[in-house]
Order: sequence, then C-alpha cells, then structure tokens
Amino acid sequence: MHSIPYARQSISAEDIRAVLDVLQSDFLTQGPAVERFEKIVTDYCGAKHGISFANATAALHVACLALGLREGDELWTSPNSFVASANCGLYCGAKVDFVDIDPRTYNMSVAALEEKLKHAKAQGRLPKIVIPVHFSGQSCEMAAIGALAKKYGFKIIEDASHAVGGSYQGAKVGACRHADAVVFSFHPVKIITTGEGGMIMTNNDALATTVATLRSHGITRDPARMTHASDGPWYYQQIALGFNYRLTDLQAALGASQMVRIDQFVRKRHEIARRYDEALADLPITLPWRDPEGVSALHLYVIRLHLRQIQKTHRQVYEELLAAGIRVNLHYIPIHRQPYYEGLGFRAGQFPEAEHYYGEAISLPMYFELTEADQQRVSSTLGRILRP
Ligand SMILES: *Cc1c(COP(=O)(O)O)cnc(C)c1O
Repeated sequence: MHSIPYARQSISAEDIRAVLDVLQSDFLTQGPAVERFEKIVTDYCGAKHGISFANATAALHVACLALGLREGDELWTSPNSFVASANCGLYCGAKVDFVDIDPRTYNMSVAALEEKLKHAKAQGRLPKIVIPVHFSGQSCEMAAIGALAKKYGFKIIEDASHAVGGSYQGAKVGACRHADAVVFSFHPVKIITTGEGGMIMTNNDALATTVATLRSHGITRDPARMTHASDGPWYYQQIALGFNYRLTDLQAALGASQMVRIDQFVRKRHEIARRYDEALADLPITLPWRDPEGVSALHLYVIRLHLRQIQKTHRQVYEELLAAGIRVNLHYIPIHRQPYYEGLGFRAGQFPEAEHYYGEAISLPMYFELTEADQQRVSSTLGRILRP
C-alpha cells in the first residue's frame, strides 16, 4: 500500500504555467515577479510592507539584525519550535533563552513569559526581542504579549512560519497589530510554497527599508541614502553589511499563483481537522485545542497520547504508524535539548511542559491533497494501534 506523508505541497497547472512564464521572460531573479508577490501577500494580510526572502530562516536573521540585536543582548523564544526560531539570535551574537509552553495551546505561555520578565527585570537583563511562534498555525495570545512588550520594552517578531492564512482577533496573521515584524515560511510543507522562501511583514517604514537593504548585500541605489553624490549612472553604495538573501522571480511567481488558493487551502485543512476530531474522539489521546480568538491556518494536526491507558511507548506507537505506511512526524524536539544548545548550557528539566509534550506528541498527515480514503486509513490505523 502507498505511504501517506505528514505534509505535501499542492501544485496546480496554473502554478506550473506561472513558473514557465518567468522562465521564458527576461528576468529569472530581480524582475517584476518578486514585487508582485510581495504586494499580494501584503494586501492579503492587511500589512504595510512585505519583503520576501530566500527562506524564513534568512528573514528571521535579518529581522533580528534590523531590530538591533547584538552581542550582549538576549532573545527569547519558545522551546517548542524549529531550531531556526532560536538560531537567528545566535547569528547576531546574542544570548538565547526560552519561555516554556502552555500545555493547552503548545504556544509560548503568557504566564511563564510574565514571570520570567519579572525576574529578568530584577536582574537587569531583559530581552531585546521575543519571538512567539504560532505553533501549528494557531496564533499566540498576541494582545497579552504585546501589552508585556510595552511594559517591559522588548521588540516582537512573530514566527508565523505555520500561520500564513490564519487570523487572530479579526485580523490576518501578518497584519502586525502587536508585532514589529511577522515572518512567514513558504517551505513545501507549509501552507503555501515557493520551494524555499520567506517574507517579513511590517508596518514600520524604516524597518522595511533596513531589511530590504540587508537582504541584498547592504547595498543601496537611492541617492538620498548615500554618503556623497553619485559617481554616475552605474553607482551604488554598500552602507551596511548585508547578505544575498533574495527570493528569485521563479519562486515569487509560484508564490503569487499559490496565493490564489490560500483560503481554499486553509478551508480544506479545517475540513480535514473536523474529520479527525470526529474519527478520533473516543481514542485515549488529546485532540488539538482550537482557540476561539482566531482561525488557525492548521499547518499541523497534533495529537497527544495518553500513554498510561495505551500501554505502549510513544516510540512504539510512532513506529507502528510508520510500519503501516503513515509517515507521521514529531513537532518538536525541544530546542534546548539539542546537543548544540546543551553545549551552551541548557539542560533537561528546564522547560518541563515542552519536554512532557515532546514525550507524547505525534503530528498526523495534514495537507490540501489528503484524500478522504487516505485520511480514513490514518484514523483506522491509529485506532487499531491504540485500542488493539
Ligand atoms: C519552517 C520553519 C522555519 C524555517 O523556515 P525556512 O523557510 O525553512 O527557513 C522557522 N520556524 C518555524 C516555526 C518553522 O516551522
């Protein structure tokens, strides 16, 4: 029997035509498709600026730099995320620390954040940046985190890699109501794809200019930003140490075409989630909680095993699913338990909710083209494994 992945892109005939059109045009990169894609995402989110990047990791790096993160500063994020949410702080020479998760949402706990901020203030080492991660596509409690940012004076970058197409309190994720910047990923497993790709959304004009400059070597062609008059029509100046973190026109054309279906993608994910909710309701597992404050983009559908009732180990259940051709996944190994982070001094037991969650979580197949028959196979296989 064929195997069922946990995630997969959906590429339409229109998507393919959009990329072919670019291949036959004058510009494979630095052409008109990039700005067009940026405008589509920016308008969709209701933000002021969208600046595309080679991937979300590059976008997070540049967002941190542009918000002034340097050696001697601290960045806090969730331990229940992909390593990129934390690595961006280390790239800037800053110290990284974590805030434990809420056991219901699996997002950063606001109570734990507030507690940690109080301690940090007393010790005079408040974070410069906090990166809440919208785990599985469901927004963090941004109103409360935004209020803490005002009180304690830190900047916010939302890692919305899972959440493009979602909303929170009536605004699309990416509208930047409570954040200095919001970062999306367009990796093929995410909601829409450009192959590799990412974007920084912001409502701050100066920040938008800075991140756009850092994306392309720190170079400007704008006479107003140069230190002296232009030498001639060929002239540009490097005014900062930037990178080549650009998205290509091929990728941007794919992204623009994918944006046509974004609401359809999210609606379908909700249909799939409703079917899982029903089919799995009687199993000894915790189903994902859905926050009435927003609409999750439902990147992931994560279950938690009630291991005492199941009388199998987490690993046994995972391996039995794999053996049945259900290629599940586990999001995430707590970042502080990675050997690289243990080398920085982190230890087991520091973020117990994230660690406990890691011992029980499994991400089930969830993607636009998942068929009802395949989904039924996932549900019945899980039923057979959990209730032999
Ligand atoms: C996928 C992902 C990233 C990194 O995205 P890339 O586009 O692959 O660089 C960062 N954070 C989270 C939470 C992710 O899921």
